[in-house]
Amino acid sequence: MSSLNKNLLPQRVLLKVSGEALLGKKGYGIDFDVVNAIIEDIASVIRLGVEVCVVIGGGNIFRGLNAAGEGIDRVKGDYAGMLATVINAVVLNSVFQRYHIKSRVMSAIALPQVAETYVRDKALVYLNNKEVIIFAAGTGNPYFTTDTGAALRAVETHCDFMLKGTQVDGVYNSDPKKNPDAKRYDVLTYTEALSMGLNVMDATALSLARENNLPIIVFDVHQKGNFLKVVQGQGTFTKVVV
Ligand code: UDP
Repeated sequence: MSSLNKNLLPQRVLLKVSGEALLGKKGYGIDFDVVNAIIEDIASVIRLGVEVCVVIGGGNIFRGLNAAGEGIDRVKGDYAGMLATVINAVVLNSVFQRYHIKSRVMSAIALPQVAETYVRDKALVYLNNKEVIIFAAGTGNPYFTTDTGAALRAVETHCDFMLKGTQVDGVYNSDPKKNPDAKRYDVLTYTEALSMGLNVMDATALSLARENNLPIIVFDVHQKGNFLKVVQGQGTFTKVVV
């Protein structure tokens, strides 16, 4: 089932939040006002009976590509980036528990003292039991991104769609923060997003979504209550489909 209208709720969705979104007003690390607001929004979606998976990025702490620019070995930098996502995931998990929401972290890199190692079939069991799963460490491989990890996990766990929470309310033809005439798309095809080089997700993530017919919804994660609205097909967003 893939729905994005008021009458038909999705059964399961994946929310991708970039590490940068957690920065809030801080230059580095985690702004807990932002984390609390995001968790409250997720809680309201769970209350509708929708199963939720979360993928969190690590850009608020470390990015392999930036470190490579400073002369750090790219592969090592990418592992550091993946570990940064685990830090965010562990914090998020702890906040979920403070809100009495059943959740667990599943990491693509084995870190047994810190998180359960990702096993797809176990993730399905937990999701069926209405637990929130936070998928950490991206794909577990260097040279990839958490956007690709998110598309991969969404496909593996049969999510109806993937929601990418960003700092703006959709995909624009140029940066709306710099260009007041920038135009927002309501709907885009994967191929348009790829060929126009629009700022949706990286090409690997988009190709995976296209091959598996996974709709992507891009929306503003910082507007309170927006996740709840968008899951119900309301509010402002861009939908990327076939
Ligand atoms: N990363 C990686 N493989 C993955 C996912 C992430 O190597 O499958 C590394 C990469 O260095 C990346 C960093 O982890 O820069 C943080 O992830 P990302 O940049 O996707 O985070 P976001 O932009 O969403 O905060």
